[in-house]
Amino acid sequence: MSDKVDMDKIVSLCKRRGLIFPSSEIYGGLASCWDYGPVGVELKRNVKDAWWKAVVHERDDVVGLDTSIMMHPGVWAASGHIDNFTDPLVECKSCHLRWRADAIEGKKCPECSGELTEPRMFNLMFKTFMGPVEEEASMVYLRPETAQGIFVNFENVVTTSRKKLPLGIAQIGKSFRNEITTGNFIFRTREFEHMELEYFVKPGTDKEWLDYWVKERFDWYVELGIRKENLRLRQHGKDELAHYAKDCYDIDYLFPMGWSELEGIANRGDFDLTQHAKCSGKELSYYDAEAGEKYVPYVIEPSAGVDRSVLAFLVDAYEEEEIEGEKRTVLHLHPSLAPIKVAVLPLSRNEKLTPLAKEVFKQLCPDFVTDYDDSQSIGRRYRRQDEIGTPFCVTIDFESLEDKQVTIRERDSLAQIRVPVGELKKVIEAKLKGEAFGASTLWATRQK
Ligand SMILES: [Zn+2]
Repeated sequence: MSDKVDMDKIVSLCKRRGLIFPSSEIYGGLASCWDYGPVGVELKRNVKDAWWKAVVHERDDVVGLDTSIMMHPGVWAASGHIDNFTDPLVECKSCHLRWRADAIEGKKCPECSGELTEPRMFNLMFKTFMGPVEEEASMVYLRPETAQGIFVNFENVVTTSRKKLPLGIAQIGKSFRNEITTGNFIFRTREFEHMELEYFVKPGTDKEWLDYWVKERFDWYVELGIRKENLRLRQHGKDELAHYAKDCYDIDYLFPMGWSELEGIANRGDFDLTQHAKCSGKELSYYDAEAGEKYVPYVIEPSAGVDRSVLAFLVDAYEEEEIEGEKRTVLHLHPSLAPIKVAVLPLSRNEKLTPLAKEVFKQLCPDFVTDYDDSQSIGRRYRRQDEIGTPFCVTIDFESLEDKQVTIRERDSLAQIRVPVGELKKVIEAKLKGEAFGASTLWATRQK
């Protein structure tokens, strides 16, 4: 696929195949809110699992954490979010639409050419009240990032994990930002999921660890199938660095609307731990027993959006192609991201075929996310599975009743092999890991 995919096609596929629906749709929807359907929830979970596996489980220097969304308001004062987490907002005096001042060219309302107010700073944190009284004293914020939950637990984690620095603490969870403008499907929403790692290092080694994580994170997307030419690395200019950052890189993806940020990797220095130590009165430092010295660690932070990643994987995997005069839409998703790994498809809904087909389904479903489908023609069922990126379809036909063999069809090459029912689990396991499929290899065919 060389042509850029248009976003409408992705949105339409997501709706049609149960990946993503507009939130509260029967009430007309709610701006910028989306719901993940039966297929989408699997894809989203796979993206998070792949991140967790790479960042936490496959390393001995990172541990996980799951902190609460509502935190002590003092956290946001210390982090600078109350003072600095703002966008300049202007309002049209005629139609009253609100805009981000820095996103507007000229001095007129883009909608009606009306006159705009002077910009005022608008805080992007959602506020709510904790407990039964709605008063200033009980006001809390919904977290705009998961990182602060990590910083305030630094001492707890270091003490209980018994690990030395460099040490990473990772978290996946919901964040909320009351963005003035949203859009581009699930790219910019007010409620979204973060995958964040705070990697604590000795000051002086921060530069090399920043480079290390930039490369690690870039490669993660490539290993999961995003084409390199659709990714780029961009270093922030001094004028665009956030108040806490010493240095920062964005990993951008070429989305249908153009290059946009997928993930940021920042060197936060010792800003966060220093601030929290100052504001809480608790010491937050690390004692390096080997060197016999105490210091406040620096932090490298790779921070990625789950929903953005899902969108990038979808866009990159999407292809419309012609097979023997017929059009098919296919998602060439990496097998580990594919929502459904195997579809069990009896040739037709037939009382002779059903028992064996059900037996095959039962054999596979404890090990692989498996779909069972016997409605409509086999051709239409193949197409449905192609559209959601299912790597393998297993077909049970009348011959299967005789020879106890079934056909596996591979999504990308459309190659087919015949396998004894008893071997099926073993074969699919190997193929999902990239073993050659007949003449071709799933995924290798895609990489060419
Ligand atoms: Zn206006």
